[in-house]
Amino acid sequence: MNIPEFPFAEPYKIKTVEKIRRSTPEEREKWIKEAKYNLFKLKSYQVFIDLLTDSGTGAMSDEQWAEMMRGDESYAGSRSFDLLKETVERITGFKYLIPTHQGRGAENVLFSALVKEGDIIPGNMHFDTTKAHIELRKATALDCTIDEAYDTEHYHPFKGNVDLQKLEDAFKKYGRQRIPFVIVTVTCNTAGGQPVSMQNIREVSALCKKYGIPLYFDAARFAENTYFIKKREREFKDKSIKQIAKEMFSYADGMLMSAKKDGLVNIGGFIALKDEETYRKAIVYNILYEGFITYGGMAGRDMGALAVGLDEATEFDYLESRVEQVHYLGRRLMELEVPVQQPIGGHAIYLDANRFVPTIPREQFRAQSLAIELYKVGGIRGVEIGTIMADRDPVTRENRYPKLELVRLAIPRRVYSNNHMNFVAEVLKHIYGTRHEAKTGYRIVYEPPILRHFTVELEKI
Ligand SMILES: *Cc1c(COP(=O)(O)O)cnc(C)c1O
Repeated sequence: MNIPEFPFAEPYKIKTVEKIRRSTPEEREKWIKEAKYNLFKLKSYQVFIDLLTDSGTGAMSDEQWAEMMRGDESYAGSRSFDLLKETVERITGFKYLIPTHQGRGAENVLFSALVKEGDIIPGNMHFDTTKAHIELRKATALDCTIDEAYDTEHYHPFKGNVDLQKLEDAFKKYGRQRIPFVIVTVTCNTAGGQPVSMQNIREVSALCKKYGIPLYFDAARFAENTYFIKKREREFKDKSIKQIAKEMFSYADGMLMSAKKDGLVNIGGFIALKDEETYRKAIVYNILYEGFITYGGMAGRDMGALAVGLDEATEFDYLESRVEQVHYLGRRLMELEVPVQQPIGGHAIYLDANRFVPTIPREQFRAQSLAIELYKVGGIRGVEIGTIMADRDPVTRENRYPKLELVRLAIPRRVYSNNHMNFVAEVLKHIYGTRHEAKTGYRIVYEPPILRHFTVELEKI
């Protein structure tokens, strides 16, 4: 029986622990300056609570470690590949599996086969590497997300949804000749880990079929998406997570997966496809860029651990404790009136820097300034999702100012306790209390031509 007050207690206990170190504000002041105010340049020992990303930072289970030991490292025909292929087919229904070293490897392989110069790829706020892989091929990522996704104070249960009118307008304007496929990201990372409803997926799928355009999922957090469907769409209340996942994937022609998220592993990815013809086109590039078709950049043991991880990630008890921990932190922050994007998504809290530090000019990178402050005060590492990440327009080379200036606090899977979440809330409460003192931000002293946020260097104004 569920005790109502504690329905989200973790369905696991701790077998191994890893030490993390608190540091002093003086140490952090020095370290962040040495890192040119780029949080990606910090050493892990300089960070107390690392919420930079939920990608590849989760804890594996004893079952996954056991499967690591059983990994079959044969170049071709590995048992671990078969285990992964069977698991992916059982969970998604997709018959053709192409392993890759991680999600962007999958993007590179599939887009090499399908995207050409001048193409238009509609979707719901494409992920940054997805967008970069599209733009690298001189094609355009067209955002067709519903307008509600841009209003951080507006409640909508499925803010990752695609606007069907925007999508159909694009279909009419560009047609099948210029639109090789549509890509729907579940959950939508860039919109704040917001889910896409089954209803919307059905409608998008029907529209794609009507125009003869394939539909793919960017499925890094597909399991978290199914949890929201179960909780928020009445029709699915009594369905299991695995049933919901199966139905969701039945509407698509394939998926790109970063296994570092809902695969519950530290590295890995894959493409899974319904149709053989696309598979045949894509494997040519897989062999070129990733590796042979039965390992594609992954060790046998990694494929084994991923197979087990996919099964564990699609269990209700796990998903409930995972998503509800994120929501626990979100609720604490809302109680403290710290401006966060609402509703809270599946894997992260997004601080709304436009409301948090409106006193810092946008040209001085508001969200980045807030992320730096969070590190200085609490040793907590988040990530800017704002003007720095939005990068420059590829044609005009002007800064692109996105509608949202966010700091993402991504919660790793099965790693931190709610005591850590309480600490994060206390630090933010302190910063929020002193927010009016923040008047100036940072300026760029170095940036690369593409994906600048990883290596950009800044100085304090
Ligand atoms: C992480 C992620 C990717 C890229 O995957 P990597 O494994 O980091 O290369 C693509 N799309 C989404 C939605 C992601 O979250």
